[in-house]
Amino acid sequence: MDFPFKTLQEFNEFFKDEKTCYEFLEQQRWGGTPVCPHCGSVKTPYKVKPRGMFKDIPSYRCAEKECDLPFTVRTGSIFEGSKIELRKWFQAAYEITTSKKGISSVELATRIGVSQKSGWLLNHKIRSMLQMTATTQLGENGNHVQADETYVGGKNKNRHKDKKVEGSQGRSAADKTPVVGLIEKGGRVMTFVTENTNAETLNQIIEENVCAGATIVTDAYRSYSTIGNAYNHITVKHEEGGYVTERNGHKFHTQNIENFWSQLKRGYVGIYHYMSPQHLHRYCNEFATRYNMRGVSNLSRFLFVINNSNTERITYRTLTPNIANPNHPKRKLPPTNSRL
Ligand SMILES: [Zn+2]
Repeated sequence: MDFPFKTLQEFNEFFKDEKTCYEFLEQQRWGGTPVCPHCGSVKTPYKVKPRGMFKDIPSYRCAEKECDLPFTVRTGSIFEGSKIELRKWFQAAYEITTSKKGISSVELATRIGVSQKSGWLLNHKIRSMLQMTATTQLGENGNHVQADETYVGGKNKNRHKDKKVEGSQGRSAADKTPVVGLIEKGGRVMTFVTENTNAETLNQIIEENVCAGATIVTDAYRSYSTIGNAYNHITVKHEEGGYVTERNGHKFHTQNIENFWSQLKRGYVGIYHYMSPQHLHRYCNEFATRYNMRGVSNLSRFLFVINNSNTERITYRTLTPNIANPNHPKRKLPPTNSRL
């Protein structure tokens, strides 16, 4: 397919109306031949006159007698049930994937002309589509892997002195959420929102995501001291003034993962101002995907999101769990995230 847009203006001219957006999504999801999202049938469906304000969007009814259900290309995708025009979804996806440091919900809402609540929901849903799926482990190409953790949360120094949390500026952060990161030198990053950074947690993440035999570089944090014999573990000792450790003529450091943390934290402070623990894994995914797609064109990023739209529905209700309900699945922090 030929995409004649390079700028936002060209993008908006290309996706000039709802019909164009529906037809584009049909091409992406179905390759042009409708597939019933209810039963999976590819039997040519009946065309149905669409209801609602857009009279010319393609609408169907399944041709299988037992199914017979109506659908459009939105059905069974993240766009299902949304009152927001597909065109605005596309614009939001483009804005989010092409912004270098992320975009706040308020700014997104203003740019595409929706309410603040819709802007927030769009931002979160599109962020959830920025998740990549892992097919290989890190280190398989022979490059070393850097492992490190950081803590995300309010800045202690900005708090009123009555509210300062002791020890929260460094590692044992009482009110911050730990995030563990793995980065392959010259390759991709993976992030994991965790409940703690003890040896068991870190070892599990490393064993699941770094191939055996790889070289792992960490700082001297004691939880890393039990990294198994399956790895060639190199420790960089920051406190001794040396940030680089030399081994067999090669220099090792943890600068890449630390740079990634800086990007995440700049986004936190400068764009989002706050990332709640329950949504933190989505922000981390967003920044990880942005990092991992650093060499990819704007168009490819946009298509990546659109082609990831075939996921479970995330509604405002599932994003804002009822805090009074202790059994709500979203109350617990997911143990691992951002599987790239
Ligand atoms: Zn069907």
